[in-house]
Amino acid sequence: EIGTDDDIETAVAPHVGYKKVLVTGGAGFIGSHVAQFLLARGDDVVIVDEMNDYYDVRIKESNLRLIKETYPEEGRVSIYRGDICDEELMETIFEKEQPKWVCHMAARAGVRPSIQDPFVYIHSNIKGTTHLMELSHKYGVENFVFASSSSVYGGSKSTFFSEEENVDNPVSPYAASKKACELLAYTYHHLYQLNITGLRFFTVYGPRGRPDMAPFKFIDRVSRGVEIQQFGDGSSSRDYTYISDIVDGVVRSIDRPHKYEVFNLGKGAGTSLKEFIGLVQKHVGKKATIKIMPDQPGDVPYTCADVTKAYQMLGYKSKISFEEGIRRTVEWYKDAYVKKEIEVCPETQANGLGRAP
Ligand code: NAD
Repeated sequence: EIGTDDDIETAVAPHVGYKKVLVTGGAGFIGSHVAQFLLARGDDVVIVDEMNDYYDVRIKESNLRLIKETYPEEGRVSIYRGDICDEELMETIFEKEQPKWVCHMAARAGVRPSIQDPFVYIHSNIKGTTHLMELSHKYGVENFVFASSSSVYGGSKSTFFSEEENVDNPVSPYAASKKACELLAYTYHHLYQLNITGLRFFTVYGPRGRPDMAPFKFIDRVSRGVEIQQFGDGSSSRDYTYISDIVDGVVRSIDRPHKYEVFNLGKGAGTSLKEFIGLVQKHVGKKATIKIMPDQPGDVPYTCADVTKAYQMLGYKSKISFEEGIRRTVEWYKDAYVKKEIEVCPETQANGLGRAP
């Protein structure tokens, strides 16, 4: 098993009655945590995931195993393996399960790989989301919550992002696919009065975090004494959000349907790269070997989420400080990888497009 969920806070949102929730991408990082939270508070969950090899598929299998073993009772969790664009499969799932809530976390993630292979992103993200909204309309879904991304702010001039910001300048196919999902979501709300909430997540990390992302990579590499790369002088800063805060925001959105809204879900504060590396060293207990690299073209020096709207309309507030989040993630990593002597080197384990930044 690659880790348990012991240190993820539960019961952050009030339970407002039984639900059967379709969680797409439920084998992935965020989807599996959301599924676990919903199951823990008494909802039933239907998971659909194609188990693609964007990163080591054993991580997703382990996430699903953990969920199944924790909730073995008949009917608590149903798991379907397949593509959300598969018409026959998805029709069967909606017909059989009749979910009234959809939490759509499935997507092809990653910015740089989307430049190499944009069509995978168009398929899973744009076509997949549209297909789910069609079915949600047809089967009378009461609330449709989906993952957008802070990457929609890509070409924006400002560094403190509010939902009011113009996001007409996505700078990668991934960002454009998320922006397209937001536009189509508006259309489905307009045409069919489907309740839809889009959530723009800001860099999410924590136990079971994606191996292609910096927080996992830094912890993994510093632990194994492998060199890490620092772009620029380390003063650039970004907003990192701990997984339990994201789960809290997602569940609040499921429980509070809105006609059509988009919310930022972030920490609401930036952390510099230098500080980030310092905290990883402190909690791993080893000194990092750092290779200083020139600034990446197009890198924005400072990005931060304005979470005022999520606070006002959802009651969302980040609770986990960055240091506490890193401490918990390192603790999980030691338990899941170091103690069990699992060697994970994202560079060799991740397949093809998995070699993301
Ligand atoms: P993840 O890759 O761990 O999870 C996504 C899951 O969706 C995977 O298990 C994958 O197999 C599945 N999937 C992809 N395409 C599918 C398809 N066509 N049919 C069925 N299943 C499919 O990624 P994550 O980090 O958990 O991200 C969850 C969501 O949040 C995604 O929509 C992502 O774009 C968004 N997001 C994540 C972050 C972050 O920092 N992790 C930031 C912004 C937005």
